[in-house]
Amino acid sequence: MNSRSVLSQILRRYHQPTPTSAPRRLIDLFSSVRGFSSLPRVRPAVRPSSTAVSPLHGQCYGTTARRNSVLRWYHDPRKVAAATAITLSATAMAACSRYDREIVPCTNRSHRVVYFHQEERDLGDADFAVNKARFVILDPSDPRSIRACLVTERIVHAAHRGLGLYDSNDAPMLRVTRKWGAAAAPQPHASHLRALNWEVFVAENGTPEAVTAPSGKIMVSTGLLDHFSDEELAGVLAHEVGHVIARHRADISGCYPVFLERIMSRRMEIEADYIGILLLGAAGFHPQWALVQLAKGEKFRRLSVLEKFLSYHPKTEKRLQLLSQAKTMNEALELYREVTAMDKVIDRYFPYHVKV
Ligand SMILES: [Zn+2]
Repeated sequence: MNSRSVLSQILRRYHQPTPTSAPRRLIDLFSSVRGFSSLPRVRPAVRPSSTAVSPLHGQCYGTTARRNSVLRWYHDPRKVAAATAITLSATAMAACSRYDREIVPCTNRSHRVVYFHQEERDLGDADFAVNKARFVILDPSDPRSIRACLVTERIVHAAHRGLGLYDSNDAPMLRVTRKWGAAAAPQPHASHLRALNWEVFVAENGTPEAVTAPSGKIMVSTGLLDHFSDEELAGVLAHEVGHVIARHRADISGCYPVFLERIMSRRMEIEADYIGILLLGAAGFHPQWALVQLAKGEKFRRLSVLEKFLSYHPKTEKRLQLLSQAKTMNEALELYREVTAMDKVIDRYFPYHVKV
């Protein structure tokens, strides 16, 4: 046996796939995934036979169909993103499952609250103090402060009566929105309103806006008072009080990832709109003022397309459409007619009485 045949024997015994086949196979694999379809598809110079075995995974890769069969869901970036989102949400919900479940008055939505009442009020007060420090606050004896206080008083009184805090047998807002039979219906949670100390501050600020803390502190801007009538102001305040009634500051949604939090925040705005329009009717203001103030507020905001997309508020058109639904309007009008019935009797029989 000459040296040439010995060499060919050794080569046959220790033959391995060419070292270039593994990286080429990886490029082929990634280029077949949708997200990497723009990568150049490199084919091996010598196509391996259909029975060749990958030195990396020990799997057949001889044909395209067989190559695709080794793809898994985690090779698709969109599936990975979806799985991550679901896992994060499930983890957040599991972590928060130890918190109390409450029923939101009027909407009867069941939600978990992540703060105790005092915790929620303290956190809200801290945020409110930072916001308040940015402006000069008008004196309580200023006519604009008095006007804001009088309108707020009507809304808060309507909330307490409407939710049965004065008399549990007289809760018109719960009555008109009750979905199930009285015996089977879960009791909405409104008792937290008893502990609140409602306060109104008027800030020197030309932009029409209002903010509320869960403790009952409300700040309205001079811009809001200058441009909005009493009825429109009542619409804004009713929406803000709606947030406090529903305990949105303590809602579990704060635990969600940012993109889910934005979706939940928009739902909470719609919920505050709904409670707000009922409050408006219960306070003796025609429910149509809720729509008027929303449309007017949109004129002052002037958000860009990107700002609207990133906003934690839903589109005004959608809010107007939801508020003008027949069911919502009828419920608010029922409350409005009840509370203004006595006014109409007085107007009919005592036309010259002095209104205070
Ligand atoms: Zn709001």
